Amino acid sequence: MPLTTRLLPTCSAVAVVALLAGLAAAPAPGRADETLTVDRVMQMPKIDAHAHVNSALSPDQKAAFFTFLERNNLHWLDICVVGTQWERLQKLIEVASTLHAERPDRVSWATSFNLTNWSDPGWARAAVDTMTAGVSRGAVAVKVWKDIGMVLKGADGRYVMIDDPRIAPVLDEVGKQGRTLVAHIGEPRNCWLPLDQMTVQSDRNYFSRNPQYHGLLHPEVPGYEKQIAARDAMLAAHPALKVVGCHLGSLEYDVDEVAKRLDRYPNFAVDLAARMVHLQIQPREKVRAFLIKYQDRLLYGTDEDFAQKADAKAAEAALEEMGRVYRADAAWLATDDEVPVPRAKAGFTSRGVALPASVLRKIYFENAKKWYPGI
Ligand SMILES: [Zn+2]
Repeated sequence: MPLTTRLLPTCSAVAVVALLAGLAAAPAPGRADETLTVDRVMQMPKIDAHAHVNSALSPDQKAAFFTFLERNNLHWLDICVVGTQWERLQKLIEVASTLHAERPDRVSWATSFNLTNWSDPGWARAAVDTMTAGVSRGAVAVKVWKDIGMVLKGADGRYVMIDDPRIAPVLDEVGKQGRTLVAHIGEPRNCWLPLDQMTVQSDRNYFSRNPQYHGLLHPEVPGYEKQIAARDAMLAAHPALKVVGCHLGSLEYDVDEVAKRLDRYPNFAVDLAARMVHLQIQPREKVRAFLIKYQDRLLYGTDEDFAQKADAKAAEAALEEMGRVYRADAAWLATDDEVPVPRAKAGFTSRGVALPASVLRKIYFENAKKWYPGI
C-alpha cells in the first residue's frame, strides 16, 4: 500500500498537505521497521561510496550522467586510483575534482598519490603534497590500491606492503587532515585459486581477462594471507585513522572474517562494492544477521564506472545498464524476492535479505556521511 493511502485516514488535512509537500521534495525513506520496495529504494537518497569516472566527459555525456544520478537520487564517491600509473592518475584527479566542483551535490571524490617515484627520498613529501592539494579541492578521502602489496617493488626487489613503515607518515597525514583512508588491499581469496575452483563467475571472468592480477599465476607476489596480515597490521598501527576497506575488506568469502576485523578495529568499516555476489552465495540468515549487527559499519558501493562513450546512444545504454545494477542490488537488500545472480553462476538465484528501512538508510546513505565526513 502506498504511504499516502495508508496515512490518509488518520492524518489531519494540514498534515497531509505537509506530508505531500515533503514527499514531492524528498520521498520519505520509510518507518524504521518497514521494508521497502525497489522503487522506494530508488527514490530515497543514496550514496554509491565506491564508483569511478574513468575519463573526461563531453558536455552532453556529462549532462546525461548528472541526469542519471538525479533520476536515481544517487550521489557518487568517485575514487581516483593507481599510483603506479601516475600520468593516468593525474588525469583522473582532474576529472573527479572538476565533476565535484560542478555538482558537489551529486559527486564527491577521493584522491590518491604517486608511487612511480617510490625510491626517491622525497616520495612521502610529494605524496602528502598531492593529498593536500586534493583536500583543498574537496577530496573527502585518500585511496590506496592493491598495487601496494601486489605490484610496487622497492629498490631491494621486494614487494612493498601496506604496513611498510615508509608509508606510515603518509597515512598519519590522512588522519591529520581529517580525511578517511579508502583501502583496496589484496584481492578476493579466489585470486589465488585455479579458475575452476573460484566460487563465483565474476571472479573467473575478471582473472581470466586480467591474468596479470591472478595470484595463482604469480607465486612471487605475496599471497592472500600476507596481504590480509599487512592490512591488519596497518589498521593496528593506525588505530585513530578512519579506514574504509573496499570490497568487504578482501574478506568477502566469509562474513565471520569481516566481523572479526570490525570487532578488532573500531575505526574500520567496509564497502560492499563488487562483492555483493559473495554475500549472495553465503547462507542467507547468517549474512542477514551480519548486515544487521554491523549496520553502522557497512557502506553501499558498486565499483561501477562511467567514461566517455563513442556517442550519445552508447552513453545512454551504459547508464541504463547501470540503472539495472542499482535495481538488482536494491531487490536483494530490500526485498525477500529470489533475485537472479548471474555473477555467481548462470541461472543462480539468491533470496533477498529484506533489511528494515532503518538499516537500508544507514547502508545506503548515513554511513557514507559518517565515514567520509564532508561527502
Ligand atoms: Zn573500484
